[in-house]
Amino acid sequence: MPDRTARDQQREELVALAREFVSNEITPFAAQWDSDKEFPVELHKKLGELGFFGLRIPEEWDGLGLDTLTYVMVLEEIAAGDAGISVSMSVHNSLPAHALVSHGSDEQKNAWLRPMARGEKLAAFSLSEADAGSDAAGLKAQAVKDGDDWVINGEKAWVTNGDTADFCLMMVRTDTADGRKGAGGISAFLVPMDAEGLTPGRREDKMGLRSSSTTTLALDNVRLNGSHLLGEEGKGFVYAMEALDQGRMGIAAQGVGISRAALEHAVRYAAERKQFDVPINQFQAIQFKLANMATRLAAARALLHEAARAKDAGLNVTGKSAMAKLFAAETAMAVTTEAVQIFGGYGYMRDYPVEKLMRDAKVTEIYEGTSEIQRIIIAKNLTIESH
Ligand SMILES: Cc1cc2nc3c(=O)[nH]c(=O)nc-3n(C[C@H](O)[C@H](O)[C@H](O)COP(=O)(O)OP(=O)(O)OC[C@H]3O[C@@H](n4cnc5c(N)ncnc54)[C@H](O)[C@@H]3O)c2cc1C
Repeated sequence: MPDRTARDQQREELVALAREFVSNEITPFAAQWDSDKEFPVELHKKLGELGFFGLRIPEEWDGLGLDTLTYVMVLEEIAAGDAGISVSMSVHNSLPAHALVSHGSDEQKNAWLRPMARGEKLAAFSLSEADAGSDAAGLKAQAVKDGDDWVINGEKAWVTNGDTADFCLMMVRTDTADGRKGAGGISAFLVPMDAEGLTPGRREDKMGLRSSSTTTLALDNVRLNGSHLLGEEGKGFVYAMEALDQGRMGIAAQGVGISRAALEHAVRYAAERKQFDVPINQFQAIQFKLANMATRLAAARALLHEAARAKDAGLNVTGKSAMAKLFAAETAMAVTTEAVQIFGGYGYMRDYPVEKLMRDAKVTEIYEGTSEIQRIIIAKNLTIESH
């Protein structure tokens, strides 16, 4: 057995802390947040105090500076309690934080990254538009230079944390309508949510993830000075894709957490529920379902941890993170569907926890790239060495 390193010990402690936090502060309230469509503000403050909004942000910028493996393990714990909370955390930690760490100036890191890490500012990430989802490079929101300022107009869609964040990392066009450069004409801006002319739409009424807020953002002559442009003009799409490599691991962790919760409920219920005078876990049909669920969950987690370790080793993880996201999402859908089946009629009732898990699972096959798009990414990134 190799010696446990300080990193291993820190990882175990953080995962245990997250698990305890979930059982005290999240699990007892998750069903209520779901039915009320409530984004729990106080809970987010507590997560911030624990440092969970600076998980991957380096210590010099007040974050915990964790490696990717620890990050996804903590996210699994949160997602096992409530996937809506985990997506709010995952977007903040994986996307704007990643882009700021990689491409922000010191001035921008002081203004945006440091308060993010301390849990004082919540961030959103906005790439999609109503007519630009899978084809995100087709986005149309436009920033035009006016002296030293940029003036932004357009409408963004499906922004997680859209009406709860303090600012948004937003991808908009900085090329002109007559000189469209596709992905190369998109830039990334740090947009404060209280900027004049920025209006979030109503909170979407979603199938699942109901404790997270998702809104449109309308931009009507939003004027920002040059300090709001992140990195280089025309590089926004590249920055977004880099961040999504990590973001997809966050969504994979969400799928793993949801699957674990569903399996735990199903194992417990199958031991308690009796039909034909025996617990239903005595039937081989139920045993095989549980065995398949457990095996798929273990495989999804292993694939995710492999992708996280590859990122920590500095390797390109575009293909691996897409694989982890694809497999974990399809696992979450399969495992939660089987959990509902094992619960029988009770599984279909809102009084029992598994139908929420099935609703929460579905979106993991849709956002940060649908499962169809993940397969395209995986195929594009195949090399002889990747087998
Ligand atoms: C709850 C929620 C939160 C979200 N949060 C955010 C956020 O914070 N920030 C953000 O920017 N976006 C966010 N999104 C948007 C999300 O990323 C998009 O919905 C997603 O990328 C899919 O785009 P679309 O909905 O336009 O579907 P479409 O692109 O219209 O796809 C429709 C169908 O066509 C398929 N399809 C499309 N193109 C191809 C192709 N080339 N080959 C094969 N099949 C294809 C898709 O797989 C899908 O099945 C969120 C979405 C949801 C539902």
